[in-house]
Amino acid sequence: MSDCLFCKIAAGEIPSEKLYEDELCCAFSDIDPQAPTHFLVIPKAHIPSAAEISPENSAAAAHILEVIAKVARDQGLESYRIVSNIGPQAGQSVPHLHFHVLAGRDMTWPPG
Ligand code: 5GP
Ligand code: ZN
Repeated sequence: MSDCLFCKIAAGEIPSEKLYEDELCCAFSDIDPQAPTHFLVIPKAHIPSAAEISPENSAAAAHILEVIAKVARDQGLESYRIVSNIGPQAGQSVPHLHFHVLAGRDMTWPPG
């Protein structure tokens, strides 16, 4: 999608600190980290949110979970939290599917 921030990051049109990239997805550091480790993993294809995962695009979503495990392992993370906000009430501010990966501090439950 031409006016989507994360499509532009995926395409390299907006710079980011990329941690991992393949044909389906990329991982990059969050610009406003909420934990000592905070990165995002997104599909290269535009999917508005996890609510739009369907049989046609679920392979990319499943692949992202594999990539999260790999990047976390490569970074030596033993405990981390994966978050995907859906819609404004849950705090989604960028309408392109993304998984937050947060680590390096104690996490509270329930989340705020
Ligand atoms: P959401 O609020 O939609 O769950 O998460 C969006 C995330 O994207 C936020 O954590 C925010 O800090 C991050 N973000 C917004 N704009 C940029 C940007 O231009 N570059 C990077 N690396 N992260 C961004
Ligand atoms: Zn997009």
